[in-house]
Amino acid sequence: MLRGLMGEQELLVSMCIQHAARNHADTEIVSRTLDGPIHRYTYGDAERRARRLAKALLRLGVEPGDRVATMAWNTYRHFELYHGISGIGGVCHTINPVLSDEQLIYIFNHADDRFLFLEATFIPLIERLRAQLPAGMQIILLSPAETTLSVLALYEDLVAAENEDFDWPAFDERSACALCYTSGTTGKPKGVLYSHRSTMLHAFGASLPGAIAMGATDVVLPVVPMFHVCGWATPYTAPMNGVKLVYPGPKTDGASIYELIEGEGVTIGLGVPTVWLNFNNYLRDNNQNVTSLRTVLSGGTAISKTLLQAYEARGVTMVHAWGMTEMSPLGTIAALKRKHSALGKEAQTDVRLTQGRAVFGVEMKIVNDEGVEQPHDGETMGELLVRGPWVVRGYYNDEEATKAVVEKDGWFHTGDVAKIDPDGYVKLTDRRKDVIKSGGEWISSIDLENAAMAHEDVAEAAVIAIPHPKWDERPLLIVTARPGRQPTRESLTALLAKRFPKWMLPDDVIVLDELPHTGTGKVVKLKLREMFRDYIVAER
Ligand code: ADP
Repeated sequence: MLRGLMGEQELLVSMCIQHAARNHADTEIVSRTLDGPIHRYTYGDAERRARRLAKALLRLGVEPGDRVATMAWNTYRHFELYHGISGIGGVCHTINPVLSDEQLIYIFNHADDRFLFLEATFIPLIERLRAQLPAGMQIILLSPAETTLSVLALYEDLVAAENEDFDWPAFDERSACALCYTSGTTGKPKGVLYSHRSTMLHAFGASLPGAIAMGATDVVLPVVPMFHVCGWATPYTAPMNGVKLVYPGPKTDGASIYELIEGEGVTIGLGVPTVWLNFNNYLRDNNQNVTSLRTVLSGGTAISKTLLQAYEARGVTMVHAWGMTEMSPLGTIAALKRKHSALGKEAQTDVRLTQGRAVFGVEMKIVNDEGVEQPHDGETMGELLVRGPWVVRGYYNDEEATKAVVEKDGWFHTGDVAKIDPDGYVKLTDRRKDVIKSGGEWISSIDLENAAMAHEDVAEAAVIAIPHPKWDERPLLIVTARPGRQPTRESLTALLAKRFPKWMLPDDVIVLDELPHTGTGKVVKLKLREMFRDYIVAER
């Protein structure tokens, strides 16, 4: 080997904040605090305080690899924690407070966190669970509050007790920097352990012009919580690109978001579809518009055409992205290609409603049940497998879970079922457990649901598999009615028959008063499958 003669600095997360402090020292980080008032300071201030925090953590005895948990809103303190903890080789373990008690207890104990930096909002939750959490875990409060918990210190006291005389250390870029557990609705949570290298490469990839491009003229509002999947990497991509950061704290309702967007000149917002739906409703109901906003990035679940068009009408581009905790999270972005400019608006919208194309650095393929690779023809469905330098290759201390989803050559089974077209655009058709397998062929529940929801009598639709003696499984369509309407099997089947071959049509249609939902608004198909496990389609 002829070894190249270029710099071999380790890729470390601390590069981001150091770069911002040197080159964007006066660029602002604006946060809505817990009680409402706006806090503002700069990357220069943030980096100095992160240095003090790093010294405080070292004084407390944090060693490389130690898990330091955070349970906090999107504010400047959480930003400092990301950098203070990872910057000294600690592992910033963000904890999602909306998980169930059982999941939280599992996660704290499995990660064996040494410290917990706790936002006052979540004190009652931790008081309730304290007896079942690691006994040695020490608690630091992010702001003063009454509690029965035994508290080691207040955050501001820790920071105030140190000075800024500190250099960010260099160490192996393969060291872990952050930990986030998946919130899978089935099974126990699994720990995704990001490395400095994976995080930095992901931040480069995610900032590319064809991805979540952001520059030093931008103002970025991450509504997506920093307690899940590293706030879609914004704690790293923002300082890396010198953008002004605006943090919403605990308030993500339409009015609060509007105040920040207009008040701070936000150009890019990141969040799940519900956030953008609520925000659009707020604008509509209050007869308001946005002046600075030009892009909203939406991911986590699919977006609807109506929502995309509503933002379009306001002069804002809604960019659809797909990713997972296991992918840091970015996998695909639905950005157009040059050739699409020749298409009409409708056809362009169809492209933008797909989950998008792989971001540079992410490899993708689809496979059938036997693991055989399927063509990228936009028709054939298969399980989506991904591989890359920021894709998980194992879960933290969980060999069993790792074996189930990671192949020897690094391909990770996403559990999503998709089609990929010749241009590389991915269209998610199902979660693997929801796909309907009829006579060896796969039927997409999502495609049928979307088509059924276009029916004028239907409010909501879910398609599940019911067992069938000959075909193994057949689709069953379950709908709720719009007020005053009565959807029928005949009219729904007639509508679906226009788009789907006969063998894909549901064997029956059931009308329920309501469908079961999760806390985040997804239909609980598991429950529906249990309800209709023994369902027999009547001969007609
Ligand atoms: P969890 O923590 O439960 O793994 P993630 O936040 O990692 O949750 O979510 C990953 C899953 O969310 C994906 O596997 C996919 O099923 C779904 N998802 C993410 N983005 C999209 C999208 N744009 N469209 C449809 N589904 C999506």
